[in-house]
Amino acid sequence: MQINMLDLKRELENLGEEIYSAIGKTFEDTLFINGPRVREFENKAAQYLGVKHAIGVANGTDAIFLALLAAGVKPGDEVITTANTFFATVESTVRIGAVPVFADIDENTLNLDPARIEENITEKTRAIIPVHLFGLPCKMDEFTEIASKHDLAVIEDCAQAFGAEYNAKKTGSFGTAATFSFYPTKNLGGYGDGGLVATNNDKVAENVRMLKEHGSSKRYYHDLIGVNSRLDDIQAAVLSVKLKYLDDFNARRRRFAQRYRTRLAGVVSFQEDASGHIYHQFTVRTTNRQKVIDALTEAGIASAIFYPIPCHLQKSVQELGFPAPKLEITEKVASEVLSLPIHQYLTEDEVDTVSEVVIRALR
Ligand SMILES: *Cc1c(COP(=O)(O)O)cnc(C)c1O
Repeated sequence: MQINMLDLKRELENLGEEIYSAIGKTFEDTLFINGPRVREFENKAAQYLGVKHAIGVANGTDAIFLALLAAGVKPGDEVITTANTFFATVESTVRIGAVPVFADIDENTLNLDPARIEENITEKTRAIIPVHLFGLPCKMDEFTEIASKHDLAVIEDCAQAFGAEYNAKKTGSFGTAATFSFYPTKNLGGYGDGGLVATNNDKVAENVRMLKEHGSSKRYYHDLIGVNSRLDDIQAAVLSVKLKYLDDFNARRRRFAQRYRTRLAGVVSFQEDASGHIYHQFTVRTTNRQKVIDALTEAGIASAIFYPIPCHLQKSVQELGFPAPKLEITEKVASEVLSLPIHQYLTEDEVDTVSEVVIRALR
């Protein structure tokens, strides 16, 4: 038996007909860019998230870049974020010419530690990017309080958290703006690249709409220097179908996570749980990681390390010559984390099989 990190073949067995039909209709419309499917998905996404504006863009990396630009982040500004994230969070900051300032994470949540923000604020700080890592919402009230006290923008990186909730509100509705990715492995994944910027701020929304469309709101009139970064209608059609099932997908992931937590209690340590955690990844920690990986591989079970090298230790970032922070918790965690298979089409039996292999490896 092979157990994968994600199994989209099983998705096609379940939703294939509906997805093929939605794609077919888009083909018949022959409107592939800025067409009705994108508008329809943007409206549904805004309603689902409880935000005023949702703007489709080409991918989650562009979403962060555009949200930072639209919120007024300029070259030389400092942006405080976590090094325990996918590299895109940092890349977007550097692409603007802004300086990423890395604060350490909370060992229980694995998210940016709100208690480490203020010590990193200088007169150049313009924004904070909390990342809801693995689908666990950051403690947003603490971030928004610090941000309003110091007049900073908050850009939530929700690439792993579509549908996650904090204080009964969706992640992506707290910050100045929020960014999402529809990379196929995400909880709401397209069948190609895609992304979204969500915001309640009219000015930020207007800026993103212009910036992603060559800086123009009227064709061939370019008021800003922008980029070409659009969600396409085929992706939007797929995403509209999958959005209907997202709460069910996320509830299934939560159920599998609870089962892992019961089976593996006392064997490995866990990321903090929360009722709004949607388990984009189920990540455990052990000081015997390689033993577990070898046993899983032997049994035909996939696993992955998110992330083996924290952003501040990446070659490209070190070569920029910014002051190198010592992030003790981030560095320790990077040597211990291991993500086990979790997705909406997993089965209870598979969770048990994976758990047994992990327990045997560590006995
Ligand atoms: C996936 C991801 C991104 C980038 O999204 P793309 O659509 O792949 O560009 C950004 N941040 C985080 C935390 C991610 O997981």
